[in-house]
Amino acid sequence: MYQEHQIAYIGLGSNEGDRKAYLCQAIALLEQHPQIKLLKLSHFYQTEPLTLNQEVQKSYLNAALEIRSHLNAVRLLQFLQEIENQLGRIRTHRWGPRTIDLDLLLFGNEIIRSKNLTIPHPELHRRRFVMEPLVEIAPQFIHPIKGKSMTQLLQGLTDNKKVKALYQFQLCHSSEGVIKTPYKERL
Ligand code: ADP
Ligand code: MG
Repeated sequence: MYQEHQIAYIGLGSNEGDRKAYLCQAIALLEQHPQIKLLKLSHFYQTEPLTLNQEVQKSYLNAALEIRSHLNAVRLLQFLQEIENQLGRIRTHRWGPRTIDLDLLLFGNEIIRSKNLTIPHPELHRRRFVMEPLVEIAPQFIHPIKGKSMTQLLQGLTDNKKVKALYQFQLCHSSEGVIKTPYKERL
């Protein structure tokens, strides 16, 4: 079944092992899919982890990616999960450490609430580590439920966990060269 292409946003996070390498490998695997085109990549951001019971965990590297794809949202999530499995993610507990976490943040203007998939991602607008990278690549994108732009949602955030932008997107080389955002100079 042919489906019109959609613009989607993916949130990436890693807090185990070689975090940079996991983010880059996930990006490379996404790029290899014949029905996915990478459009924009944010910087990598270092963020404090969310943990349960004072568990000690390494800080996260987070990033956001804009893609264009003919896959529908369910298939795209399946592919994200295949990449998580391939990169050795072992699910222990919620908010547990992970080599790679790939979340489907937004899928065009679609609103989906099914057992395995909620779009827009339900925590999106509450998490600074998601919103900072997302605003970098999609400042004007309107949240289909909240009716606010990503910039407005970032301004309204109460999550004050430290999120620090790093200058590391040069580390990810793709077959089409380095994927850059237009915001490099601003940071
Ligand atoms: P978290 O990302 O919240 O730490 P997981 O990555 O372990 O947790 O995801 C748990 C479940 O969330 C997955 O089994 C998946 O089906 C579901 N899920 C629902 N909506 C989404 C979404 N938009 N993106 C990613 N996973 C989602
Ligand atoms: Mg996840």
